[in-house]
Amino acid sequence: MYNPKSLKAEEFIDHQEILDTLEYADKNKDNVEVIDAILEKARLRKGLTHREASVLLACDIPEKIQELYALAEQIKKDFYGNRIVIFAPLYLSNYCVNGCLYCPYHMKNKHIARKKLTQEEVRQEVIALQDMGHKRLAIEAGEDPVNNPIEYILECINTIYSIKHKNGAIRRVNVNIAATTVENYRKLKEAGIGTYILFQETYHKESYEHLHPTGPKHNYCYHTEAMDRAMEGGIDDVGLGVLFGLELYRYEFAGLLMHAEHLEAVHGVGPHTISVPRVKHADDIDPDEFDNGIDDETFAKICACIRVAVPYTGMIISTRENQTVREKVLHLGVSQISGGSRTSVGGYTEEERPHDTEQFDVSDNRTLDEVVRWLMEMGYIPSFCTACYREGRTGDRFMSLCKSGQIQNCCHPNALMTLKEYLMDYAAPETKAIGEALILKELENIPKEKVKEIAKDHLEKIEQGIRDFRF
Ligand code: SAM
Repeated sequence: MYNPKSLKAEEFIDHQEILDTLEYADKNKDNVEVIDAILEKARLRKGLTHREASVLLACDIPEKIQELYALAEQIKKDFYGNRIVIFAPLYLSNYCVNGCLYCPYHMKNKHIARKKLTQEEVRQEVIALQDMGHKRLAIEAGEDPVNNPIEYILECINTIYSIKHKNGAIRRVNVNIAATTVENYRKLKEAGIGTYILFQETYHKESYEHLHPTGPKHNYCYHTEAMDRAMEGGIDDVGLGVLFGLELYRYEFAGLLMHAEHLEAVHGVGPHTISVPRVKHADDIDPDEFDNGIDDETFAKICACIRVAVPYTGMIISTRENQTVREKVLHLGVSQISGGSRTSVGGYTEEERPHDTEQFDVSDNRTLDEVVRWLMEMGYIPSFCTACYREGRTGDRFMSLCKSGQIQNCCHPNALMTLKEYLMDYAAPETKAIGEALILKELENIPKEKVKEIAKDHLEKIEQGIRDFRF
């Protein structure tokens, strides 16, 4: 029944294949020879199958885990250098007709305040985000065909892209809305979105149906096949994810990789990103009510295994996680993080973090500037770059540049340039001083003369006050 090339959810995420994978992983988790062979394959930086990666995830031999972590860190350096892409979520509306048991926006929740931003409110939110220094957003909305139809989402995207405030502009809008039709995906593509993100929540069909008892999201196949429709609609950058805590993490991990293999097999391009959210406390949600919560160590291991299994896929960590966990997984392969996030509708224009419309508790409450400074103090380059997508480097074009390592020649100078832009336009004095020193050091370390020249040229332009919308 298992067939990665099938377009049917139950064939490319075949339940029996996952069970067989877990059995295979259990059988081999202490077999040093098998584990060494898998690690050796991972060192080729061409990825692993869901079966191979599942063995690594099951293994708990301390020396082998250390090897895995070191390799994950090295692979990350090879593909992404020391750059970390920065983004923020923007909640448009928390109206929702679904019944998701883990989400406070579920329809039966009568005490959460319901809110949908007007276009003027979208404007105010975006100006607040631009004043922080953000260039890349992920828009979020509940599923509600009456309150949040596709026309509303498109209008918001249009508004967001139209706002030029001081030196600011949102240059990439990623979209996290419910599974929809090919026609609607085409409209999103035409509106100029970056990545279409949709979390599977769980790959386990029975659990999925239990956790989504009512509403359109109840339909497991329609949800699981959404990325194929998105690709058919012309969106070639898609973002996967599961909500860890709902089901057994090893089941989810195998499902996630099978989904990635399916996209590669059918569309010739794997997921652009993978997100790793964990269930958090929220208005009427207690994460302890879900049996499958994972500890921080397991979470870190999952991140490392994803990094070695799909080396060229970006990995995203949100402010659901605290500073300590974020720091740990940055070393293990995470390449994008959010900063200064508010998970409420209209939260960015409020002085204090508002709770009345929040989707979940944020564990990292630092400002964007604090996150940027923290990253730089650890030697990372916070990148606000959106150039790949603006220059048409999406889908398989991006992937082939990434796989060959050539992407570094674009990303490194662009990251330095957009960081410089941030430092000049938004940073606190101390952040600016740390950043300027880091940029000088990075510039010296660029091995290729031509790339160094490009970077110097970019930086000079920023110093002169020239802001280039393409980046
Ligand atoms: N309604 C859309 C959908 O159906 O995919 C948009 C997604 S929602 C705004 C973003 C994600 O937040 C969900 O896909 C879910 O994984 C996550 N989420 C929901 N409740 C959560 C909670 N209590 N803790 C952490 N993440 C949660």
